[in-house]
Amino acid sequence: MSFPIRPSQTKIVATLGPACESPEMIRDMILAGVDVFRLNAAHGTLDDHQRRLQTVRQAEAELRRPVAVLLDLAGPKIRVGNISGGSLECHLNDVVRIVKDSTALNPGELSTTFPPILDDLEVGNRVLLADGLIELKVIGKSAEAVECRVVQPGIVRSRQGMHVPGARLRVRAMDDADFVAAEWAARNGIDFVGLSFVRTAKDIRELRDHLRGRNSEAHIIAKIEKAEALDCLDEIVSAADGVMVARGDLGVETDIARLAVAQKEIVRAAKRHRRPVIVATQMLDSMQHSPLPTRAEVTDVANAVLDGADACMLSGETAIGRFPLESVAMMHRIALAAEEYASFPGREAHRSDERNVFGGSDDSISESAALHAGWIAAELNAKLLIVATHSGKTALRISTHRFGMPTVGISANPTALRRMALYWGIIPLPQAPAAESDQLLRFVVQWGLKEKLLHAGDLVVTIHGTGFPGTAHNGILVQRVNDSSQAQDLEESRA
Ligand code: PGA
Ligand code: MN
Repeated sequence: MSFPIRPSQTKIVATLGPACESPEMIRDMILAGVDVFRLNAAHGTLDDHQRRLQTVRQAEAELRRPVAVLLDLAGPKIRVGNISGGSLECHLNDVVRIVKDSTALNPGELSTTFPPILDDLEVGNRVLLADGLIELKVIGKSAEAVECRVVQPGIVRSRQGMHVPGARLRVRAMDDADFVAAEWAARNGIDFVGLSFVRTAKDIRELRDHLRGRNSEAHIIAKIEKAEALDCLDEIVSAADGVMVARGDLGVETDIARLAVAQKEIVRAAKRHRRPVIVATQMLDSMQHSPLPTRAEVTDVANAVLDGADACMLSGETAIGRFPLESVAMMHRIALAAEEYASFPGREAHRSDERNVFGGSDDSISESAALHAGWIAAELNAKLLIVATHSGKTALRISTHRFGMPTVGISANPTALRRMALYWGIIPLPQAPAAESDQLLRFVVQWGLKEKLLHAGDLVVTIHGTGFPGTAHNGILVQRVNDSSQAQDLEESRA
């Protein structure tokens, strides 16, 4: 297998699991294009995750390439309880009782891992079992149970998912296991924490308080997988640091026929709030068993790139599939092909819903400088855009405008570098601490020449903060690269 020399601008998130946890595999996956590894708290133990995290950190140090880690919290996923005999066959029009007390279960009845859900159900509600394959309709309700009629038959097994689309459930956003996992994330300097089944912005704030109380600066990814979340998308996206289009559960919780439309709405909301967005689940699903994807899957990944996703995610493909490395390589190739075709909206950034929304603050200075640095770079056909950033925030602003030229986010802050690993089109470049700004620029240019992103005569545009006023990015510099053999590799020109 040959490794790409050119990274895709679209980032790749790969879920770690038994199929890809060896140090060699993790190293190869990074070389094949993985930017972010996902640990799924719903599967495996914290010991498993600890071991995998260590392997990622070792590979990162060895390859000297910032790689982020996302810990996904399982959240309130409601399941069917244990079934006597392991499974229950639901025939069309059968009446099935779902009881609160799992110790008083009669044959032919079901229980649930979260009995209070039964109080929230109303006659007419749909209950979906086995990831939506079986459909029940509530026809009656008592203090101990709800009674349902089977609308779509099938066999349900112990502990499969139970979904109640549309119903508003009074379930806590995080259970004990989620709190324990979040504490583990805080202790281990995890970069991103994903929260499943987010319903309101309050769920995000609860997790943020928990993390901040434990000295974690982890960025929070809101997983959009419920109808309720779509109803207040803007508040959720604005409260979170990033978003995931969690199509697996979203396709059960809402009308699966609307999934592509929901994806586009979520991506747009993320852009509006300058948040990175990950498109997830079944992107190359058939590659769990086959070395080649289907035509539909290839087209799905490409369309996610064209929609404006910052990152595409692999789940079972890498975690438990037979072809984890091939899946990463394929996703990378599809992304490159789609990016070549994409028309980047940087030039349309003045569209009304994407206007600078930070009126008058330091943020609005950075926002405006980032936008216009991109414009200048595009207009002059500059070959590299460089942003010196402490937190990664200004790099994110440039990223969301999609100018499309190679953009380096240079920072001495490892946290910022790993955050930028997720941001579309941003190449995170580590810089030794306390370097002077002119040395910093020279360093990036040398790096660009070495990577063949730059050649003598090319223009580079830099955006940085002068420290005056405040913390804003208020400086834009345009320079021409001199003969690469000379130490003096920059020539000042006036912007
Ligand atoms: P999950 O989230 O794989 O953790 O369930 C993604 C999704 O639901 O699509
Ligand atoms: Mn999910």
